[in-house]
Formats: sequence, structure tokens, C-alpha cells
Amino acid sequence: MKKIVIKVLLSVLIFILSNIGAEALINKEQYEVESTENVQKIMETLCSDEYRGRVVATDENIKAAEYIKDYFTEIELDIFDGKSFYNETGLRYRGKENFAINNVVGVIKGTEGENAVFLTAHFDHIVGDNGQKLMGAIDNASGISVILETARKLNVEAKKKVFKDDIVIVAYNAEETGLNGSNEFMKKYNKKYNKCYNINIDCVGAKNCMELAMGNNDVKSEKLYSAMRELFNEEGVAYNDNIYATKNGVLRGTSDHQIFRMYGYPSLVLGDDNIIDIVHTNNDNLDNIDYSDLEKLSEVLFKFISENFYDMNEIKTGN
Ligand SMILES: [Zn+2]
Repeated sequence: MKKIVIKVLLSVLIFILSNIGAEALINKEQYEVESTENVQKIMETLCSDEYRGRVVATDENIKAAEYIKDYFTEIELDIFDGKSFYNETGLRYRGKENFAINNVVGVIKGTEGENAVFLTAHFDHIVGDNGQKLMGAIDNASGISVILETARKLNVEAKKKVFKDDIVIVAYNAEETGLNGSNEFMKKYNKKYNKCYNINIDCVGAKNCMELAMGNNDVKSEKLYSAMRELFNEEGVAYNDNIYATKNGVLRGTSDHQIFRMYGYPSLVLGDDNIIDIVHTNNDNLDNIDYSDLEKLSEVLFKFISENFYDMNEIKTGN
């Protein structure tokens, strides 16, 4: 008897709860879903047939920029400069001379706004050897999913307690064409802040890659790397001492963090070690993504930025 009563009560409770759940889902903002699901959803969108490839000057690239712009709107970031989240790279779509190739840039404004953290990742990809549209899941839908999710968390936090420094979220275009998006961006804004530093994400969350490459060969970035390694130790994020994009000690690639270093600012790049043979091939697909790794990374970055793990006063010179 008791059991039955409990069963009835339970099913009533489950019925009520499931209905609350359904209603909550419908009423919730599109991006206020569970975090892991959110990262996965971003990945699945950017790697879907409509978006995959994301090659500069293609419809898929425009769609990816649009998706990121809409996401920034949805999570209520502020526009960084001008009237739109789109920020021109100076490049134009071939045959459509009025059509700009854009970075997508949002900001969480701090109370002082004299200094800034730049959280960056590129969203463009390349065309495959046979002209096929590659997914580019690791390179670099992964980085975009992490900065979008981190930005969402940071902006929720900023509404409770405003940060002192600006946090600038940059989704770069035209990285694969030779760091054009970041080059143009820094040309325009390298003097905007008194002090700044950059965390750039390119190729993370690969399933069978156990460690981030956290070796550093840039003197001005060393304290930034030390601070991140310390937090990784606390949070149990696996890393090693290899330099980003090297294989057997030989440099095989680079990313947008280089541009920050060119202007003398500390810059750290997060990327999985030992994935050189996967990126820019058909094996760089969603089957090889560990969503919980991406979620974990966004949590750690949220902590790093919101709790000022790297003291900006350590930066000796701006430019
Ligand atoms: Zn990349």
C-alpha cells in the first residue's frame, strides 16, 4: 500500500516536474541551456552541412559569422566598436566588392576599461585537398565553442558584479589565409588600451589527445603561462611542455596569438598537443571531439579571467 502511494505521488511529482521542465525549456533564452549541451550545440551547428568548410569568401563563412553575431546578441554582449558586432578585416568577397569579410567582436565592459583581456579564436577553415568541405571540428569550431560559452558565463557574472577591466571577445576570420583577421584587428586597436593580454584558442577538445601544449618561448608571456599552468594544476587540466603546433620539436603551424606578441603584449595560445596529423583532414570531425573537455576548459577560463589569475600589473610595457 505504502509503495503504491509512493508510486502515485512519485508519478504526480514526475509529471509536474517534467511539465515545469518543458515550460522552462520553451521560455528559456536560447543559450541558457545546460552548458555541455550548449558547447555541443555550437559545435554541431558550425560543423553542419550549412556551415562546414567556413572557407573565407564563401556562403558558409558568412553564415558562421552571422551565427556568432546572433549568439553575441542573444547573450547580450556590448558592441566593441561601431554599430555592429561585425568588424571589417579590410578584405572583400571576390566579385562582391561591397561585401566585407568580417571579424565578429563583442565586449563586456569593465568599470574602468583602461585595460583589457582579449579572448580570441578563429572561425574560418580551409577547403580540403579534393575541394571537399571539411568540418574543421577541432580546427577551430572547438575554440569558437569555448570562447562563446566562456563569454556567456562571464556576462552572467558581470551582471552580478561588474569587472574592472574590459573583456573583449574576438571571433577572427581569415586566420587560415595568413592571420589576416587578427593582423588587421591589431593594426586598428593596438593602442586602444593601456595594458592588455590575449588568450587565443585554436584546436582543443580532441578526443584522443590528452594534453594541451603549454610550452612557451615568448619572454613577455611567461608570467601569463605560469598563472595558467598554476590554475591547470589546481583544476586537473592535463598539459605538457611542448610548444604549440610543434611535432618532435619542429614548429608546424601557428595562430593569431602571434599578432599580439608582434605588438609586445603577453599572449597565450591553448591548443592540443600532437594533433598536427589530424587537422586539415577528414579526420578532423565531430567523432573526434570530447565535449566535456571543451566545457571544462570554458569553466577554467571563466575562473582565470573573472578571478584575475593573471595580474595585469605584471605587464611591463604596452605599446
Ligand atoms: Zn586553426
